[in-house]
Amino acid sequence: MPRPVIDSLTGLLTRESFHSRAGEIPPGGLAVAWFNLDNFKMFNKRFGFSRGDEILKEIALILGNIFPSSKSLIARFSDDNFVVLTDWATVETCIDTAQEYLYALHENVTLRLRAGIYFPSDDDDIRSSCDRAKLACDSIRKNHSVSSCMFHDGMSRELALQQHILDFLESSMKLGNITVLYQPIVRLSTGKICEAEALARWNDPEIGIISPAKFIPTLEQYREIHKLDIYAMRNVCADYKIRREAGLPLLPVSVNLSRLDFELCDIIEEIESAVSLCGIPRKMMRIEITESINDEDMTALNLGIEKFRMMGYEVWMDDFGSGYSSLNVLKDYSFDTIKFDMKFLHGFDVNKSEKAKYIISSNLEMARLMGMQALAEGVETEEQLEYLRSIGFDKAQGYYFGRPMGLDEIFALERGIETAVE
Ligand code: C2E
Ligand code: MG
Ligand code: MG
Repeated sequence: MPRPVIDSLTGLLTRESFHSRAGEIPPGGLAVAWFNLDNFKMFNKRFGFSRGDEILKEIALILGNIFPSSKSLIARFSDDNFVVLTDWATVETCIDTAQEYLYALHENVTLRLRAGIYFPSDDDDIRSSCDRAKLACDSIRKNHSVSSCMFHDGMSRELALQQHILDFLESSMKLGNITVLYQPIVRLSTGKICEAEALARWNDPEIGIISPAKFIPTLEQYREIHKLDIYAMRNVCADYKIRREAGLPLLPVSVNLSRLDFELCDIIEEIESAVSLCGIPRKMMRIEITESINDEDMTALNLGIEKFRMMGYEVWMDDFGSGYSSLNVLKDYSFDTIKFDMKFLHGFDVNKSEKAKYIISSNLEMARLMGMQALAEGVETEEQLEYLRSIGFDKAQGYYFGRPMGLDEIFALERGIETAVE
């Protein structure tokens, strides 16, 4: 059966007809704009599919009215993905106008129509031009301060790395190219190591070291993060078991979880089974969760945190102060320890950083009032350490005490280990 030329919902071209008709527009002086509506899935969930369909029809009308029909092709490729091939000189103004129209129609709901723009050269084919416009559009998904973006070459490299991460996650775990290192955490009252944080490391045979700053967000974006977190946690359990069976001293370890783990798998069950398989007491494992928590998944996460705590695991809030929601997260969830983000100490000078000192000490006071322990991340100098000790921080972590290393190496550090009682 021949494929439809027109999208039945909006009356716009389909992807296939757009591709085949693109050749009819004389080359040169063209732009491809890729549009996507933020949170369209959430919108459908909240207001129902028929309201969602109405919005898509409105967008089609707006695009049809704004882009000059004699010089433009307009299509809906799928769901909330619209693509326009048009005159390069007016593309940006048209995008701005389309966004204004949509805002004006829906003053009570925040609807952002994101756009990515690509200017094809004469030898670019239409499909790869569309891919590039889409990449530009995706690149501002998390950046709410802009609503359109032009494609640049770095985006292709970024995309290739993302693809590699997704393609090779499973095999890299199997082959041991992803490992876990441990960074010491020091109790300031004794100066001894009291815990260690487990951090994932990816040493790729093709690319070399891939930073967690790259693979963690990619795995979160593509909802694969739980696979890495379960793997890292099982590695921690295995390392622990080896030391335990050899009769060597032990140390409580904290593992990083993504808030998505609570949606993507039964993370409590995963941890419970690994921990009991390796005979690790719950009080020897801490759960770190970063503060970037969305409203949407509040219930599952809140229940998860409570359950972990009731079962005897400590739950720590990671990177406190790094995002805009820190205080709300503290208000709504219960933690045993707050980890102060290393940004608090960035460029810290004990004689000059008066404002930083006020912020650090008043947040410490707040942690105290809420009955939580305070841990400072990113301690790099003796001066920072002395200041934190003087105001009464419980614990600290950072390059000053040691970079992430093998678990056994931590036990060889001169600083010494607090005797852990299992
Ligand atoms: P994080 O949990 O806040 O971990 C601390 C990060 O700060 C680590 O970076 C560590 O190497 C770095 N760091 C520690 N001390 C210092 C210091 O004194 N100065 C500076 N400049 N940096 C310091 P890393 O290992 O690159 O990890 C980055 C982030 O990736 C982590 O931040 C954590 O959020 C995430 N991550 C790492 N492993 C995992 C994992 O297995 N699962 C999940 N979900 N996230 C992970
Ligand atoms: Mg952490
Ligand atoms: Mg942190």
